[in-house]
Parts: sequence; structure tokens; C-alpha cells
Amino acid sequence: MSEFYKPESLMMSYGYQPEWSEGSIKCPIFQTSTFVFKTAEEGKAFFEVAYGKRQQEPNEKLGLIYSRINNPDLEILENRLCLWDKADDCAVFESGMAAIATVLLEFLKPGNLVLYSNPLYGGTDHFIQHFLPSIGVKTLGFNPWDSQEDILNKLEQSGNASSLSLVYVETPANPTSDVIDIGMCRAIADRYKTEEKDVYVAVDNTYMGPLWQHPLDHGADLIIYSATKYIGGHSDLIAGAVLGSKALMSRIKVLRTFLGNMAAPYTGWLLMRSLETLKVRMEQQQKNAIEVARFLNDHPKITNIHYLGLMDEKHPQFKTYKKQYEGPGAMMAFEIKGGEKEAFAFLNALRLVRLAVSLGSTESLAEHPRSMTHAGVNDDQLDQMGVSHSLVRLSVGVEHAADLIHDLGQALDAVPIV
Ligand SMILES: *Cc1c(COP(=O)(O)O)cnc(C)c1O
Repeated sequence: MSEFYKPESLMMSYGYQPEWSEGSIKCPIFQTSTFVFKTAEEGKAFFEVAYGKRQQEPNEKLGLIYSRINNPDLEILENRLCLWDKADDCAVFESGMAAIATVLLEFLKPGNLVLYSNPLYGGTDHFIQHFLPSIGVKTLGFNPWDSQEDILNKLEQSGNASSLSLVYVETPANPTSDVIDIGMCRAIADRYKTEEKDVYVAVDNTYMGPLWQHPLDHGADLIIYSATKYIGGHSDLIAGAVLGSKALMSRIKVLRTFLGNMAAPYTGWLLMRSLETLKVRMEQQQKNAIEVARFLNDHPKITNIHYLGLMDEKHPQFKTYKKQYEGPGAMMAFEIKGGEKEAFAFLNALRLVRLAVSLGSTESLAEHPRSMTHAGVNDDQLDQMGVSHSLVRLSVGVEHAADLIHDLGQALDAVPIV
């Protein structure tokens, strides 16, 4: 069935049978810690697979054991998430950061090198720059404007190229919407792969997935989400997800079992509800964003706008944008004439658009990256990335585009002229 229908047609029913729950059309919340085995032999067989003591037989179903290991609300949600990215398997987490930290801890050991793109989400940046070195992992960053050759040179100069184990990418980058070529990252990873060691590529797809970018198609091994954002979509939960091949996901799921950072059944249930409207929400958000970006681009108090839909054909990242994305998305950032004072005057004057961090929700959200989401990143790096004092990040919601434009316009009117 999943081969024929589009994901949006399957989000209401896939992987769930009403007869499991008294005919109830919706999957109930399985608010339970543990599951009863039919026999002791069955319990033993379930544990052998869950703890990685043996591979699952081709037709063997992994039975329900305990809600830290598996639960119907998580398993059905994971099966549904797999459809959007055409992934073999998925694991959901209690937050995006839990998903990211678990991937980094599973695929990086002391002495290994992680190559990562800049800028990164502030929490990821902190984990890579401050936590990983404390356990002996080496780190090396590259910039969106670096060519493959530049990156290979950086790797060679670092003296750690042969220890490369993971390439970690965020594209488009938060908050500048810079795009990174995933295919190029695959080529770099393959160059340092040996008989003894694979080099994996992991992509944080929070900004554009699961609708407008499919990293596995471009050579990524793992996709990571903050499901708090578009997948949840209502600013009412925190969650994360990782998707990839059966073999890699089995490693991720075993570590999740022992870290105990899986999502709760209620979060799984909320996310299944969110997935039913994922496509209509995201498509409306993108439509609105295109109109909002056009308005901002023409406004005399806006000096510079970062929106994929406005990228010039001559921009060095344009080819990657066209190859890698199915749309321009609904995230943008723009500079207001002036500095922090003018940016704050704008943010303080917003009425319909809410002043808050986070993104991807039904309501539009605006924030000031330099003093908020990216406050932990060092100043030189922020300057280099173009995260200036007047930069505002905007996540466009599902409101009427004309109302959004009206609100943004009146807030810009409130900004003093410099
Ligand atoms: C929000 C976000 C995260 C972290 O996710 P949480 O659910 O807040 O833990 C990671 N990456 C990106 C790009 C994000 O926007």
C-alpha cells in the first residue's frame, strides 16, 4: 500500500489496525510502561533482538517489551515518518537535541574526527565545540562558501584527516539559509572511507524536511529532525527523530534504549495527529513566505534578505539550491536598516507575528539570532556568517498572507529612520 499512495494519503491510517483497539479509528495513547508476554520463550526472543544479541529474522515481528524500548505510539509514528523520506527505519526522541547527541555519541569515539558545516543550530554548535572535545573527539568546521577543494585542504592541514568518521551538515543553515551540497559531503566522506572504517554523512533536515529536501536521495546516511518544528508544527511539544538504513538505525535504537531518551507515548500520539496536516500546513506556510519575502524585499527599511526563493541565479549556491530542494520553504532572515536598536523596535512592534524562538509552527514567529538562538556562538564567527546585530529571523505560519504583510509593515513603520 505504501508503494502506491503518497505519504499525505497514508498519514491517517498507515501501520495501525482499528481491531487492535476496539475498532477505534485513531490509534489511542498506549499509556503503559510494560507489555505482557504470551510466553517466556516469546519474551526471550524479543529481548535477543532488542539488545542486538542476534539479527531479526526476515519475517519476525519485534514484539512489544517495555516503553523505553518500544511502544505502539512510537512505532507507528516512526513507520509513518519513514514514508516521507523513503527511509528503512526511524527512531523518535524526546527532543531534537537528544536525537543529535545520540547520533554524535554513537558514531564518534575518542580519537575520531567530525567535520561539520557552519553555522549550526546553537545547541548542536555547543555540543560539537564544547562537549565532544572533552571526550577526545576532534572537530573541524567548514563554511558554506568553501569548495570541495577548500574543505579537503582544511582536512589535510588539520593532520587528522585519516580519523574522519562523520560529516555533520545543517542545510539550509539556521539562521542564514546558506545551502550546503550534500553530494559534495558524500564525496568527501567516501574519500576517507577504508576497509576498516566507514565515514557517515548526517544531515539536520529541520528547516526543510520532510517536504522540501530529501537528504537520502543526495547521498546522506542519516537524517535528523527537531520534530518540535514543522513535524510537530503547533508549538506544543518537544521531540526529535533520526532516519536511515536498518543497520545504522539498529545502532541508534540500541543506544537510545540505554540512554533512555525516547519520546513518551503522549508525544508520539500528538506527533501522529500533527502528521495528518503536515503537507497542507507546510504548503500554506511556503505560499505565505513567498508573498511575505516579496514584500520585505521591496521595503526601503530592509537592507538584505536571505530567502531561498529570492536567490539570484548567479549566486554560487544557486545550483545546489535547485538540485537539492523542491521549494524555497518558509524560513527567512533579513537585516533592518540600522543595528540592534532598530531590530528590537521592529520586534517589539509586532502584533500578529509572535516574538519567540522556535520555528515551523502554525503561528508566525520572529526572533533576533544574535542575542537569542545564536547568543552562545562567538562574535567573530557570527560576523563572518553574516549574523549581524540587525538580523531578524522569521518563520512564516499559516495566517492569511495579507494579515502578515500588514503586521510586518506596521512594525517596520515603527522602526526609527537611521
Ligand atoms: C530547534 C532545532 C534543533 C534542536 O531541537 P530541539 O527539539 O529544540 O531539541 C536542532 N536543529 C535545528 C535546525 C533546530 O532548529
